[in-house]
Amino acid sequence: MKFSKRIQSIEPSLARNLFNRAKMYDNVIDLTLGDPDYDTPSVLKKAACDAINSNKTHYSANAGLIEARAAVSKNINSVWGICADPQNEILVTVGGMEALYLSLFAILDPDDEVIVFSPYYSNYVQMIKSCDGKPIVVEAYSEEEGLVITEDMIRSAITDKTVAIVVNSPSNPTGAIIPKESLKIIADVSEEFDLTIISDEVYHTLIYDGKEHQSILQFENARKRTILIDSMSKEFCMTGWRVGYLFGPQELVSNIVRMQENIAACVSLPSQYAMIKAYEDGLRCDYVDKFQARRDYLYDRIVKIKGLKCRKPQGTFYMFVDISATGLTSLDFANLLLEKEQVAIVPGKMYGKNYAKYIRIAFTKDMSILKSACDKIEKFVNELVV
Ligand code: PLP
Repeated sequence: MKFSKRIQSIEPSLARNLFNRAKMYDNVIDLTLGDPDYDTPSVLKKAACDAINSNKTHYSANAGLIEARAAVSKNINSVWGICADPQNEILVTVGGMEALYLSLFAILDPDDEVIVFSPYYSNYVQMIKSCDGKPIVVEAYSEEEGLVITEDMIRSAITDKTVAIVVNSPSNPTGAIIPKESLKIIADVSEEFDLTIISDEVYHTLIYDGKEHQSILQFENARKRTILIDSMSKEFCMTGWRVGYLFGPQELVSNIVRMQENIAACVSLPSQYAMIKAYEDGLRCDYVDKFQARRDYLYDRIVKIKGLKCRKPQGTFYMFVDISATGLTSLDFANLLLEKEQVAIVPGKMYGKNYAKYIRIAFTKDMSILKSACDKIEKFVNELVV
């Protein structure tokens, strides 16, 4: 059988690799995927069960049920303060991932370039490649300052092939929040070079220390060129329901809808009914305090381990830890930690070539499990670092 160059260029996910291998151990602590452990709120489960029991289980419009898009519009209005037209500017998608993929598919021709800030959610790079585009990776992270994006960084990455820029805040894998000043720079430079902004805000409800979410959509000049990506996965602990959405300019959405017919046709109807329930009722995520307590605990433990360093995440449920003092690569660290202590984490290599000395820990498990994971990581690192 012949395989396309495109499919061969897609690298397997290291997070999935560790997640799959973790399953082979009995008492493993799995802190790999960004999959929160809390249950989906009961009202949303009921909405989906009611949909099934009343046989609302057929295809919907490709863009999603109009009631679901109206509910999304209400959510956009309440979170971003923007009036989004449910008929023309919203598409219900199979999670944030499909929203990202469809967006890239809609705007990329072969060799078009997309700017991605590093360390990045690795799916961006794989998706850009699978749409025949070229990811242009810009280093933007430091342990001292977090994710600060300057005008020079963007300008030096722009060529006559640049068509888009991906912004992810709060960010996976660092948990950093891109400051408002950097978002303004991205908006201004994107306007100057007529770039599409893909703003992945799937973690917008997971922000700590009482801070407010900052979106690039607050800048007037970004609005007509931004595709907002959001999802129910992280906010409502609904990763397996596969439901999210995108909001963007009418001409873009009308183009993407044609492709949705050929990919998923539409999102599963029970998931769409849960979406209607959540956004119509203005249900909000009440897990933030719990994740913040986990973050605080994990951070305090990790920075006390000799040989580990990290910046405190401002959002998400990820901690990006510098392991360079252990002398191991992120891959060896992850493999050995799994084999010796049965704790699974993700090698930083997955998030950019400069991060082979980092690991990502997802604090998606209960405090008692995190405690045990910290004890094991501490023991493991103490044996390495003298
Ligand atoms: N964007 C980011 C930054 C993510 O980390 C993820 C999942 O981990 C997604 C998008 C997509 O999530 P989903 O497709 O479950 O909505």
